Amino acid sequence: MVTPHLQNYIDGRWTDSASGESFEDLDPATGQIVATATKSTKADVDRAVDAARRAFESWRLYPAPKRGEILYKAGELMLQRKDQLAREMTSEMGKVLAESRGDVQEGIDMTYYTAGEGRRQFGDVVPAELPNKWAMSMRAPLGVVAAITPWNFPFAIPTWKLMPALVLGNAVVFKPASYTPMLAVRLVELLEEAGLPKGVLNLVLGPGGALGDALVTHPGVDLVSFTGSSDVGAHISEIAGKQLKRVSAELGGKNAIVVMEDADLDLAIEGIVWSAFGTSGQRCTAASRVITNRAVANEVIDRLVSRANKLKMGHGLDASTDLGPVVSSEAQQKVHSYIPIAEKEGATVAAGGRIPTDGALGKGFFHEPTVLVDVKPNMRVAQEEIFGPVTAVIEVKDIDEAIRVVNSTKYGLSCSIFTKNVNNAFRFMRDAETGLVYVNAGTIGAEIQLPFGGTKSTGNGHREAGRAALDVYAEWKSIYVDFSGKLQRAQMDDQSAPG
Ligand code: NDP
Repeated sequence: MVTPHLQNYIDGRWTDSASGESFEDLDPATGQIVATATKSTKADVDRAVDAARRAFESWRLYPAPKRGEILYKAGELMLQRKDQLAREMTSEMGKVLAESRGDVQEGIDMTYYTAGEGRRQFGDVVPAELPNKWAMSMRAPLGVVAAITPWNFPFAIPTWKLMPALVLGNAVVFKPASYTPMLAVRLVELLEEAGLPKGVLNLVLGPGGALGDALVTHPGVDLVSFTGSSDVGAHISEIAGKQLKRVSAELGGKNAIVVMEDADLDLAIEGIVWSAFGTSGQRCTAASRVITNRAVANEVIDRLVSRANKLKMGHGLDASTDLGPVVSSEAQQKVHSYIPIAEKEGATVAAGGRIPTDGALGKGFFHEPTVLVDVKPNMRVAQEEIFGPVTAVIEVKDIDEAIRVVNSTKYGLSCSIFTKNVNNAFRFMRDAETGLVYVNAGTIGAEIQLPFGGTKSTGNGHREAGRAALDVYAEWKSIYVDFSGKLQRAQMDDQSAPG
């Protein structure tokens, strides 16, 4: 079989970078090449931004309901190709097929939801304080948006950015993660087929470091919408900040599940296993801490260890697989490096902890589902984002201590509590310092109609999805129309009725 080759999409044309170089897209379950992709340079970024700037001038004037119709059409195409998209996703980044289908479905949900904004984008019309004067607000597009995305949700996360940006009338330059160029190409193909005019959406494939800086600092880019690690997010914010450029940053997490003494333990264990080991722990909302009341700690640990030991690792396309690989050999080594770090600080490996080396698993980038116990809240494994199938169990005495420990990291994305006590549930909902809070559910499972994002070092105050996303990709413009025929001075002139 011929290995597919993936190209950039600039000004409505699929094209290779002038660099003539390419990079490999690997199946992390086998280490085999799935595709090659053109390796772009700053010159490609310049061309993409120029094309986007030109296209913006007509796209911003394209009626918003018609922009929405293109999104609807794209959503329909996604639905038709859901299974194929999911299979390609599993092959290029490893998560099990059911999760890849969920990723595509989230993209479909986001696309349909945002398409509706073509006919909404509400502003306010408010009374003016002076007679014969009209006061209203409307949203206006920003210009060119640079969308930089991670590999763990290679379809859904780009839709969180592209769809609101496009429906509001912005043009986009999209730089996906180098581990997942194929799904990025598929998304752009769908939007092209749905009728997006040339230049409105441009795709550049290639390494974040070199390309990313060129894109972020390009004077033709008005907003950088970034999802990824906190380190890269801080770097982007710094270089963009020097140009007073807008940055929307969605970054890392260190999410916790609290299990109270009155919890339904069957349900809690289901929630922990799904949240800690789903997508091999590579979700920004993954539960990498389990904070359990001491009264039930032994039972929680025993049941969690038993479940972790039974999870079957394998290729994500195999229906019997529970846990796919992590995304790369580097990720595998990084995840594994936390085992000696944990042990040195006094934690104990209660389940997993190893890299499988035999047979088919030895060829891919697998890591055993791992449960760490004897963990204290200030240990590195309880503070740092590991981004793999590793969860750390911390014991606490009551709800006060549980909330303190939940809030004791620099991150603030997601958390959850399992309890039947309504008072504790409401205290937790109020006092957890995170952007997402779940009660009697795991830390994952956000729906696109509510805002998504985190507090503290998880971001810089913006939210994706829901109505909140519109605020990221548009300016507010306030408009006053005076039809009195005379100069009226707000806050100063007599506000009597029209005479
Ligand atoms: P990275 O930060 O490594 O990469 C994210 C994107 O940034 C990639 O496209 C990458 O390109 C690019 N990039 C890398 N360096 C630069 C640079 N100097 N300038 C501009 N762009 C750059 O994150 P991962 O892809 O590894 O994703 C995992 C992280 O994402 C985790 O920390 C996770 O928590 C976070 N995340 C957060 C979410 C949220 O909503 N809060 C949701 C999902 C993930 P390349 O791939 O070529 O290196």
